[in-house]
Amino acid sequence: MGSNSRPHAVFLPYPAQGHVTPLLQLAKVLHARGFFITYVHSEYNRRRLLRSRGAGALAGLDDFRFEAIPDGLPPSANDDVTQDIPALCDALSRSAAAPFGDLLARLNSAPGRPPVTCVVLDNFMSFAQRVANGMGILALVFCTMSACGFMGYLQFMELMDRGYVPLKDESFLTNGYLDTVLDWVPGMPGIRLRDIPSFIRTTDRDDFMVHFDGGEAQNARHAQGIIVNTFDELEQDVVDALRREFPRVYTVGPLVTSVKTLARPDAAAISGNLWKEDASCFRWLDAQRPGSVVYVNFGSITVMTPAQLAEFAWGLASCGRPFLWVIRPDLVTGEKAVLPEEFFAETKGRGLFLNWCPQEEVLSHPSTGLFLTHSGWNSTLESICAGVPMICWPFFAEQMTNCRYACAKWDIGLEIDNNVTKEEVARLVEEAMDGEKGRDMNAKAAMWKEKAVAATEEGGASSVNIDRLVGFLLEGSV
Ligand code: UDP
Repeated sequence: MGSNSRPHAVFLPYPAQGHVTPLLQLAKVLHARGFFITYVHSEYNRRRLLRSRGAGALAGLDDFRFEAIPDGLPPSANDDVTQDIPALCDALSRSAAAPFGDLLARLNSAPGRPPVTCVVLDNFMSFAQRVANGMGILALVFCTMSACGFMGYLQFMELMDRGYVPLKDESFLTNGYLDTVLDWVPGMPGIRLRDIPSFIRTTDRDDFMVHFDGGEAQNARHAQGIIVNTFDELEQDVVDALRREFPRVYTVGPLVTSVKTLARPDAAAISGNLWKEDASCFRWLDAQRPGSVVYVNFGSITVMTPAQLAEFAWGLASCGRPFLWVIRPDLVTGEKAVLPEEFFAETKGRGLFLNWCPQEEVLSHPSTGLFLTHSGWNSTLESICAGVPMICWPFFAEQMTNCRYACAKWDIGLEIDNNVTKEEVARLVEEAMDGEKGRDMNAKAAMWKEKAVAATEEGGASSVNIDRLVGFLLEGSV
């Protein structure tokens, strides 16, 4: 195929780690199917990638190129941290359409690049869909979240209309109101208000995130299709419900697995990891007994108070098991993360601390037996693909929904109360690693791992959906 007759897909992730990674995985899959790829970072993340990975990070390949557009936020003093999520959403939605349109126009006339066939945009970047359609270009929304999380966001307007949101006052956060069962959410019987993405926990009728996220979910209805990083069996009821509401739903996940078999080998080195991974943990993991290690990581956005950090620390200290704990430099609010000397003395030889690690490999390591997680969707999928059960401490957004599904539907998780205590940490770790519940969770985790692999193998549901998606992108029109 001559380079100018190739299909050309432009990928636009929301510029945060949990979005950059899965869009890059899908980009690699389409690349292997003959697509020319342009992957668009924010300028902020481009600088971070250059710092964490060097110039090679953005070298790409002849037919896998990187571009960047501004995110609209003013320069910050420390530009190696996760940006403020609401401010970033606001800035992008106000200011990024024009630079993105200019970029598409430039790509369409750039020598050596085929004209743009389609835009794959993040579910929080609907401005890009309007820009693409305005230029006659096909636009598909990529849901980086679970189907159940997305269905949760789709209810935001309905929750306002029915008077559930905003909450009457702060007491409604703790008076049992959040346990109200919502019996009308499609495909999600038994779902409670507390399982809906956390932005609805507001007393402000004009809350920015309620309107922004609810609006972005609704905007996906105008796209030519939605791609969801899940597999049908995992979320069958809610995927079926989405299919009743959206004409084209492509469930293609878990991409973390698909990408391993489907990407071209020359794309393997392309990475979107915004932090530098510390791989020094593998020698330590190799020295531990199979299934014995508690792996603790709260992802790229979660923050906690020094008091919460201390509860986790002393819980891990008292459970007596080996643990690998990733503490991002900006994990703790206010002051720097400081744990007392006695804690390190007490866990010496049994605790390993890193800033950032190659998570997927850590989860797949035979020594890893349990994942203490914030229930981000990528982390959840990576845990499922590794067959590792979880202790869930959801922080915000649709992590609440993921946690509910992991604990109550897939039976591979135990939830920790937001008001975490060291006693509860120790008790749940014990339960998960040595109790009856732990044995059940391990069996279920092994089952879901098998199903995830089956979905992505040739003939599996997600694999077939990737074929359907490619077919549509090659033939579809706005
Ligand atoms: N991650 C990683 N190393 C770390 C922490 C996280 O590679 O030390 C990756 C993790 O594997 C996942 C992503 O960062 O792919 C986090 O995404 P997720 O959706 O779980 O949570 P978020 O960071 O968006 O809250």
